[in-house]
Parts: sequence; structure tokens; C-alpha cells
Amino acid sequence: MVEYSHFINNEYIEGSSSATYEVLNPATDESVGKINCARETEIDAAVAAARAAFEPWAATPAAKRAALLNKLADLIDANNEEIVKAEIKAMGQPVSIAGGFVVPYAAQTFRYYAGWADKIEGQTFPVEGDRLHIVQYEPIGVCAGIGPWNVTISTLSWKVAPALAAGNAVVYKTSEKSPFSVLVLARLVKEAGFPAGVFNIVSGDGATGALLASHMDIDKISFTGSGPSGRKIIEAAAKSNLKKVTLELGGKSPSLVFDDADIESALTGNSQGFLFNSSQVCIAASRLFVQKPIADKFIEGLKERFQGLDGAVGDPNAPSTYIGPLADKAQLKRVLGYIEVGKSEAKLLVGGERKGDTGTFVQPTIFLNPAKDARIYKEEIFGPVLTVLTFETEEEAVELANDTSYGLSATVYTGNTARAIRVASKIKAGTVGINAPFAPSMGSPFGGYKQSGAGRELGKEGLMSYLQAKSISISLVG
Ligand code: NAD
Ligand code: MN
Repeated sequence: MVEYSHFINNEYIEGSSSATYEVLNPATDESVGKINCARETEIDAAVAAARAAFEPWAATPAAKRAALLNKLADLIDANNEEIVKAEIKAMGQPVSIAGGFVVPYAAQTFRYYAGWADKIEGQTFPVEGDRLHIVQYEPIGVCAGIGPWNVTISTLSWKVAPALAAGNAVVYKTSEKSPFSVLVLARLVKEAGFPAGVFNIVSGDGATGALLASHMDIDKISFTGSGPSGRKIIEAAAKSNLKKVTLELGGKSPSLVFDDADIESALTGNSQGFLFNSSQVCIAASRLFVQKPIADKFIEGLKERFQGLDGAVGDPNAPSTYIGPLADKAQLKRVLGYIEVGKSEAKLLVGGERKGDTGTFVQPTIFLNPAKDARIYKEEIFGPVLTVLTFETEEEAVELANDTSYGLSATVYTGNTARAIRVASKIKAGTVGINAPFAPSMGSPFGGYKQSGAGRELGKEGLMSYLQAKSISISLVG
């Protein structure tokens, strides 16, 4: 496997601190290796390398930056299998998802932003008195990315690809729960021919992330993960150099099923769609609301779908597996904890148990009719646990959808186009799916309302978040 923990200045480094993190295969409980956790020495070296590389990289012709991003994309595709194997070992993502979706999607993101590199435009305005104003967009400098473990390489690409296309230098830290796939990618960065220091990768835990968040020479940080960690990052930025912060913090997204919906698509979206990646998905619609006239029949159908998908839980290396283990023992404990709480808060309809006594497998679980203040209804579980409530009117449905401190995503199932758009417009969320769960697309911005985050990734907005405007006024006198 990978023999190093950090990639700094195009060199593979093991790291000097005594802090290590042991990674277990969540399907088998076996140890699959240790990473060294970066501390001051490694973080300072990575930031210094990025700082030194920044100005020359920003001055590199955009077409050259684009060519390198395209080269990296090709190498990600060519090394799909190795990246996927590394990911499966660490966090148990099924091969169908990692190999067929997450890794190819990362390559596509690098290609998408390669296309932007030479299309960054400025602005000019009509002459005003004796002045001409122009605006140019410049890279921000040294940008740090901190990522989660659920769609590891995709998250990396959403942060690093626009940053590099815009001319920034990067230090990226992935989650300690999924460190190996990113370290395979480190090798590809060198193979692609990026200049030393432009793209650095460090491994480590929360303490490593905290060092990045409080560093005095990082200009921007982009974080994806839990709300509590997001708050700590803003705090660390405020207490250090006021680095710019963008956040993607997950959610408790609603799914509304109206009585005029196509029932089969609604059942598929709320079972298979919800359970994708063991529901370890920030946009997973974990609060389902069904309109009363169809509720009994729909809930019965959903129960059957969940029972059927219980058979698709298994070995993440098997191509037929749809639902793998949870990412690690901490996630298992967390999810089983919520299930126990749920048993006293609502009616258990299906599931509700761990599957087997090896690994971190959990049955797809549904709870009916939790109270509005129930923890399973309010808090992000990040696992295969769905809550179901019913509603009567469209107005009530919108109210329920917005009854959350989060606002990342929502789904609306209805056969009535006017209602679909009307309801989508009233939902306080950054992404809305109509008649299927929201599917991210390269060109359209992704991010959250309310406590689901700050800023947007993907699309032109994702690019602009790695640029800063400079207004220049030119005197026309003389
Ligand atoms: P986390 O927030 O602890 O970890 C995410 C990343 O932040 C990791 O790289 C971690 O090392 C780093 N980190 C942790 N503490 C930090 C700090 N103080 N400063 C800087 N970086 C820090 O999340 P987790 O423990 O991996 O998962 C816990 C929960 O977070 C999940 O159950 C889920 O609710 C949520 N989550 C959300 C997403 C998402 O896509 N929005 C992804 C993963 C996890
Ligand atoms: Mn693990």
C-alpha cells in the first residue's frame, strides 16, 4: 500500500510527529495501516511550499494550468482501480459507488475546471467623468482544503480543481478515516508534472485540521464535514489571520411526496436513493413526508423496498453490493446510538439492528411519526435511518420541509409541474430535486442555506470563490 503519509513540495514524507492514526477495514475489523498525523513541522513545511509556489503558478499561462489539470484527470481515470481499492479498505465504500461514481466524477471535475482556467474574465465600465474603472480577478493565494470521508476524492476535486484553475496553491487534508485514496492521488499529482509546492497533501486528524484553520499564512480554507467542526474552523480563522472560510456542513433534508406523484419513482428515490452510500451523504433526504391520502399504501411499499435492500448490504468488494458498512466503529456507535434513542421516540417500522457481529453493517431502518422535537427527527444521523411523517396540505408540507436548522437539499415528488416549481421556490435549501433526489452537476452551484454552510462549490460560483476582485481606477487626465 502507500508508504508515506504526506506529499509536500512534490516529495513523499512520512512525518516526524509521534501522532499516528490506525485505520481499520470497516467490513472486516482488520487493521489496514497507520498514517502519521501532520503537526506543526509538516503543516509549516506544506504551507511554506505552497507559498513559494503560489506566485509562479499564478503567473503560469492558463493554458498550461489547464493542460496539467487535464493530465491529472486522465491519470485519475487510468488509476481508478488502485484509488478505489485504497478507498474500500479504509471506509468500505462499495466498488460500484467508488469505482463507478465517486472517482470518475473527480476526474470529470478536474476536466471541468481545466476548461475554466483560460476563461477568467475581468470587467470594464463606461467612462465616468475623467475615470475609467476596470476589474480584474486574481487568485487568493495559499488555499487549504479539509475534507470528509464519505465521497473522498470527489470532495477533494470540488475544492482543489477550481483553486488550481484560478492560480492558487493548495494544501489539502482528507479525513483520517479515508486517507489512502488521496495518497494514491498524490503520486499522480507528481506524475502529471505539477510544479513542486502547487498541490500539497497532508494526512491527519482533527488536530491537523485545527493547525490549518489557525495558520497565519493560509489565505482561505474550504471545509466539508460536521457542523461542530465547521464552527471551530470559523473560530480559528477569526482568532488567527481572518482567512476566508467556506463551509459545507450537511443537513437533515426533507423529501415531500404528494398524492399525485409517480409512486414508483417516489419509492425508488426514498429507498434506493436515500440509502446510496449507506446514507452517508450530506444531501440524503432523511426526513420523509407523505401526503395523507396515499400515506398508508406508500409507507407499506417503502417498508418492502427497505426489506428488499437489506439483501444488498454486504462486502463492498462485491460488484452486486449496494450498501456497504458504515465508515468506521465511531460511525457505527453513533448510528446505533440514534437508533436506540429512536426506539423510545417513534415507532420502529423496519430495521433497527446492527447486521452481523463483524464489521459496521446496519440494517436499513425506518421510524414512523417522531415528535417534532425528537432527536432522530432534528439531528443529522449520517446513516441509513429514515423518519416518516404525514401531511395534509401543500402549505403544511412546505412548513415541515423548512422545520430544520439545516438547508442543504430537498426533494419534491409530484406530477404537477406548477406545484413542483411553487414548492421548490418556497423551500429554504441550496439544492432541490424534483421527482428524484438532487444530483450534483458540474455547472450548477452546490451549497447550503441556513446552518448547512457558507459559500458554494462547483460551477462558476465555485471558481469565483477562489478569486478576488481588484478594482482599478484609471485617470484619463493628461
Ligand atoms: P468531522 O467534522 O469531525 O471531520 C471532517 C473533517 O474535519 C476531517 O478531515 C477531520 O479530521 C477534520 N476536523 C475535525 N475536527 C477539526 C477541527 N477542530 N478543525 C479542523 N478540522 C477538523 O466529521 P466526522 O467525525 O468525520 O463525521 C462526523 C459527522 O459529521 C457525521 O456523522 C456527519 O453528521 C457529519 N459529516 C458530514 C459530511 C458532509 O458531507 N457534510 C461529511 C462527513 C461527515
Ligand atoms: Mn476506517
